[in-house]
Amino acid sequence: MYAPLISRLNDLLLTTDRKQRLRITRSLMAANVFIACCFLQIYAWWVGYMEAEDVKRLCSVILVNIVVWYLVLRTGLNMRFEDPAMTLPQILSALTIIVGAFSVTGPVHGSTMMLLALVLVFGIFNMKQKGAIVAGSYTVVLMGIAILIKIRTDPVNYPFKLEIAHFVLTAAIVPTISGLAAQLSSLRSKLQAQKDELANALVRIQVLATRDELTGLFNRRHMIEVLGQHRKRLERSGHHRFCLALLDIDHFKRINDTYGHAVGDEVLRNFSKVVQSGLRDTDVLARWGGEEFLVLLNDTSPELANVGLERARMLLADATLVPSLPDLKPTFSAGLTAYNMAEALDICIERADRALYKAKDGGRNCTVIRMSAISGEVTDKTASPSSQESGALQK
Ligand code: GH3
Ligand code: MG
Ligand code: MG
Repeated sequence: MYAPLISRLNDLLLTTDRKQRLRITRSLMAANVFIACCFLQIYAWWVGYMEAEDVKRLCSVILVNIVVWYLVLRTGLNMRFEDPAMTLPQILSALTIIVGAFSVTGPVHGSTMMLLALVLVFGIFNMKQKGAIVAGSYTVVLMGIAILIKIRTDPVNYPFKLEIAHFVLTAAIVPTISGLAAQLSSLRSKLQAQKDELANALVRIQVLATRDELTGLFNRRHMIEVLGQHRKRLERSGHHRFCLALLDIDHFKRINDTYGHAVGDEVLRNFSKVVQSGLRDTDVLARWGGEEFLVLLNDTSPELANVGLERARMLLADATLVPSLPDLKPTFSAGLTAYNMAEALDICIERADRALYKAKDGGRNCTVIRMSAISGEVTDKTASPSSQESGALQK
């Protein structure tokens, strides 16, 4: 019954942002150390070791410190800094307050030293190597100064022989803790670097598994997956209008034989870019193998799909695929067909392949659109007849 109320209250006090919430919670947990410090002072006052005024003053500073850090984190002011957790400033302010408590708690001042170590432990998980060294050195120096002053001004409660022991203890324990924090920090950095490397490797593996290395297009294996997912999605929605086209560069072997494999590769790379630019953003072009490409033309009829193919054909006629060979104008033949409801994708691809064959037979540089009736009867239409054979090397 109270759960939603508590959750709302938590959102209000700690924000809904997961990271900010963690920072605020950690800061409030550290406030426990301060509260312990306040209790110690109240005890010292109660047993007559401390003046009421000193207790009030230090407790007020502690309270203000807790509230200020809470407000900085709750208002998001911390996000303007390089380390939004603001670990080092929070630790430095806490250390200063504890050294302050050490200086005013009279005969019970020894107990505050434990709190110094506790504050440094808080920073262990979050501080960078440099921060850990700064916090450690700051503590030793500040404690040294406080001890020196107290030995001179209050030798009864801060006797020289005892304070020497306190200082030696501080100088031994604090650098050990900050050294540990520094080691943990470098371990954390190494783990983060490994995590980043793994994430990058995963992205690389995904690219290698789904993309064709030469053209950057989807490879055949991934295109089969894409087509399968596309078909399922459309069938679920009852909307299954899409076309498939198989494109094959005309007389590509001649390009390889005449200019070499490297030029052939360059033609393949730039051919795919030009064709892609002629298609719609929603169409998917994949390298099906060798100099053959499969296009998924989404949500369209064969007639409209052919407009995209013809646009690609025109762009190709204008493009220079190999800058050193401006007269090299490869053409392509295509077989285009519409997907029929519930048929296997293989059947549809096979139909596009047969149409492609027909386009090659019909003289190349053209598209044959193959329509298939429910009865299985097919009708072909050559969409961009080219009576002459327009091979890759023809100028
Ligand atoms: P057609 O007009 O009948 O399609 O003739 P074609 O010469 O284009 O077809 P053919 O199948 O005879 O030759 C295809 C050539 O494509 C043969 C193969 O060496 C070449 N090829 C396949 N993959 C690559 C590749 O990645 N880079 C290069 N440079 N050539 C390739
Ligand atoms: Mg070919
Ligand atoms: Mg071929």
